[in-house]
This record gives sequence, structure tokens and C-alpha cells, in this order.
Amino acid sequence: MTKNILILGAGFGGLQAATRLREELGDRCKITLIDKNDFFIIGFSKFDVMFGRRSVNAVKSYYRNIAAKGVDFVQDTIEQIDPVAKMVKTRTGSFGYDFLIVALGADMAPQSIPGFSEGGHEFYTLAGAEKLYPIITNFQSGTVLISIFGKPYKCPPAPYEGALQLHDFFTEKGVRDKVTLKMLIPSPTALPVAKNVSAELEKRMAQSNIELHKKQKVVEIKPGQKVAVTEGGARVNFDLFVGVPLHVPPQAVRESKLGNGGWIAVNPENLETKFENVYAVGDVNNIPVGDFAVPKAGTFAEAAADVVVDDIVNKLTGSTRPVRFGGKGTCYIEFGGGNVAALNADFLGAQEPNVGLDGPSVSLRADKARFESERIAKWFK
Ligand SMILES: Cc1cc2nc3c(=O)[nH]c(=O)nc-3n(C[C@H](O)[C@H](O)[C@H](O)COP(=O)(O)OP(=O)(O)OC[C@H]3O[C@@H](n4cnc5c(N)ncnc54)[C@H](O)[C@@H]3O)c2cc1C
Repeated sequence: MTKNILILGAGFGGLQAATRLREELGDRCKITLIDKNDFFIIGFSKFDVMFGRRSVNAVKSYYRNIAAKGVDFVQDTIEQIDPVAKMVKTRTGSFGYDFLIVALGADMAPQSIPGFSEGGHEFYTLAGAEKLYPIITNFQSGTVLISIFGKPYKCPPAPYEGALQLHDFFTEKGVRDKVTLKMLIPSPTALPVAKNVSAELEKRMAQSNIELHKKQKVVEIKPGQKVAVTEGGARVNFDLFVGVPLHVPPQAVRESKLGNGGWIAVNPENLETKFENVYAVGDVNNIPVGDFAVPKAGTFAEAAADVVVDDIVNKLTGSTRPVRFGGKGTCYIEFGGGNVAALNADFLGAQEPNVGLDGPSVSLRADKARFESERIAKWFK
């Protein structure tokens, strides 16, 4: 009998799951993929928009062009997930399933920091990145304050990539000597999970004259006074504030028995939740690793989707493929000056996460471009 596979969220995890399930199972399943948007963008292309390298339209891939034939794409907002009744409610309908893959990513909660929505900017959403381009283009002098409010947040190196690219941007504009670039971060190092990568990033930031103030958690923005207030009560002046919004699980997840108010807990081997045949992949789940967790990044969401597909194929066909999420992935980091580094992470292969770095070098830029083009090619026509 044809099985109903319902995928919530068409980002890295959802697109990879839909594409591979169709390849592997052909007509043996009906695949429905739901997303509130009509387009996908690769996370790091927000930098291209922020720095004016590509237009908003150029970074969008439309779901009407999904490559896998026979995937029913539905544009709708998911409002309720009931894993007991095996039912998902959207704004305009409801969907049952035999297998459910939740790949809804993370929501931003800018309102959690008083004054941030009114007095700050961000590049974690496409709209935020688009809004920043004219602002930084017209910025002639003063202090740009970049801050991470707390974890978890997507792509942990991204705020530092933003700062290093701002250095390049203002240098090319000829105003760098009149701009102070300053970062306030809550952690004791740039990337606590990877001392070697942290050291490289911090070295490059120092070379680029970007101030890095550690263990400084911003808890409030005072837009009228252009002041950021830290947990310790320090007041830091800025002319332009750019923050990484706090991330929260999507509302439909928080309010369901899957999330119970938080991120979704899964079996780290096959990403199944406590409900049989219900899986959670990517940013929406939480996989603890000692004092850390598998990071929220597209590369891990995609790898997780592959594991879930293998698990479902085993269940439906009786095959015995090995199923084990390794927490492995490669992210590309902008190091400034046209240099890119490849961060190779292995989070579940040993007792401790293992993170290595290739580069930075100009030649790795081609690998980063390929990372994007290969994914767009396999997911879209
Ligand atoms: C500036 C920046 C740079 C980054 N760089 C990298 C990088 O170099 N490498 C890397 O691996 N990762 C990078 N990331 C992170 C990466 O984009 C995310 O971690 C990745 O997209 C997560 O994949 P996902 O499938 O879990 O969720 P997403 O890709 O976020 O997909 C979730 C989908 O669910 C949909 N959705 C959410 N709620 C609802 C709802 N209620 N109803 C319907 N649809 C809904 C959303 O519209 C979205 O399409 C970066 C992120 C940013 C912001």
C-alpha cells in the first residue's frame, strides 16, 4: 500500500528528504512537502544580499521548480502538530501521515531583547540582510556594534564572518579608518566548541582591527540613546547595532508534544522522536554532545535527512542499511580578503567534538560556490 510521507519545512532538511525519498522509493510513497514560503535560499547567500553582491531575486529558488517529480508541494503555514492523533493542521487544511519528518528550522525572537526590534538590525533573515545593504552603504563613520545575544544560533561562525566582511566592505569604500568595528559576545571564546578555529578567527579579527569583547552579554538596546546594555550593567555606545536574534523553536513545535516548549529531542542514531515514525531533522532538533550540541547548520540538516530516508527505506522495504547519524559536516567560513576556510566537523564520532580547519585560502572559494550550486541543482530544475 502506498505510504503517506509528510515533510514539514522545505529548507536544507526537508528538500533533501523529499528528493532522496522520491529517488529511493519511487511510487511506493506519496510525498507531501509543506512550507509557508514559496522559495528557498541558502543561508550564506544572505551575506551576498547584505553586501550587495547579489540581488534578492538572484538568491531565491522557487518551490514550483522542485526537481523531484511527484513531490506535492503545498504552500501553507503549519499551525498544529499532533503526533498522537497523527495529524498536522495548517492555516487552511489538515494532513494525516504514515511517516512525519519535521524540518521546520528555528524561528527568530528579536522581541526577546528589549529595544532590539526598534533600534537594531540583523542579517539572519533575508529581509534583515536586504535592509542592511543601503544602511552600510551610506555609513560613513562611527561605531558598528555586532552582538550575539545567546545560544543556540544558526551557523556559529556567521557573526564573525559578518564582521570580517564588514571590515572589507568599509575598506573598499575608503572609510574603514573612520569606522570602529566592535563585537560583544557572551562566550569566553569565539567558538567554544573548536579552540583551533576560534584562535584562527580571533587572530584574523585582530589583524582586521575588529575589537572582540568576550563574556559580554547584551540584554537591552536603548534605541533613543544608541546604547547597548550588558548583563553586567555596562553601557556601550553604537551608531549601528547589528545583532544575532535569539533563536526559538517554531511555535507549532513548541506547542506540540514533540517540543514540549523547546527543541525536539531525538534518538541521535536515527533522528526518530519518542513517537514512532516521527522524525525531526536540522535546526529544530537538539542533539546534546557533552557540554555542547550538534550545531544548527544546513550541512547537518542535510546529513540528518539522509539518515532518516535510510531509516524509512529500511522500514518500508525490509532492507538493512546501516543507519547512524554521525554529526558530520563541512561549513565554509568567510575569513575576509576573499579567503574562505572549510570547517570540517565530526560531533558524534568520538567522546569530544572534533573540528578541523582547511585554509583559509582564496582557492576554497570555488568549493563554497560548488556547495551552493550542487544543492540547487539536485533540489531544483
Ligand atoms: C547568515 C547565515 C549564514 C549561514 N551559513 C551557513 C553555512 O555556511 N553552512 C551551513 O551549513 N549553514 C549555514 N547557515 C545555517 C543554515 O541556513 C541553517 O542551519 C539551515 O537552513 C537549517 O536547515 P533546516 O532544514 O533545519 O531549516 P531551514 O533551512 O531553516 O528550513 C526550515 C523551513 O521551515 C519553514 N517553516 C518554518 N516554520 C513554518 C511554519 N509554521 N509553517 C510552514 N513552514 C514553516 C521555513 O519557511 C523554512 O523554509 C547560515 C545561516 C545564516 C543565517
